[in-house]
Amino acid sequence: MLCIGFSSCSNENDEFVQDNKEMNTRSVKAIHTFPNVSRIKTDPDVVKKMNEAWEEMKNYAAKGKRREYGFYIYYDESSDKIHCGKMQMGDNIPNCEGTHASIELKPDYPALEFQNTVCAHFHCHTTLQYCPSYVSRETGPSIGDINFANSQQLPGILYDYEDAKIYGGDSKDKKYKMQTFGEYAQRPDRIY
Ligand SMILES: [Zn+2]
Repeated sequence: MLCIGFSSCSNENDEFVQDNKEMNTRSVKAIHTFPNVSRIKTDPDVVKKMNEAWEEMKNYAAKGKRREYGFYIYYDESSDKIHCGKMQMGDNIPNCEGTHASIELKPDYPALEFQNTVCAHFHCHTTLQYCPSYVSRETGPSIGDINFANSQQLPGILYDYEDAKIYGGDSKDKKYKMQTFGEYAQRPDRIY
């Protein structure tokens, strides 16, 4: 009998009597646990795809154009394997006035399958190499990034430049860093 989902397990007999049908339904369900972001961010397939995203970001950037790249990450419990969704890209940012770009990730699977398997998301921020030297931005996750990760109860992973702040004209080949963000280092267990 599962105690998960009840405020207390001490009165489970009472609840069982009161709610026999529901208990029977619940008892056939299983708890699904998702991997911690410490495992996800070092998974070879994930690392490979994160590096691809960073290269694509650098290759796309030119005068008057830059955009973010990212993808969802999924967990197949039966094989204990982590795998990446398709590469997605944010809208082109044609100017340098707002130095932050953005990306809106779309699920790779129908709602149920997505909900049952998604375990994290990744995106990268953009270079300012082709922007004038008077613009700058702080690196690291934005408030929007953190809010998105928390609202989805998923860990977020980010590639951005290593310096705390970058300026227009800074080389796109400067060193980058990986950061994880949000309240959830691991997606909460799911019962289904
Ligand atoms: Zn971001």
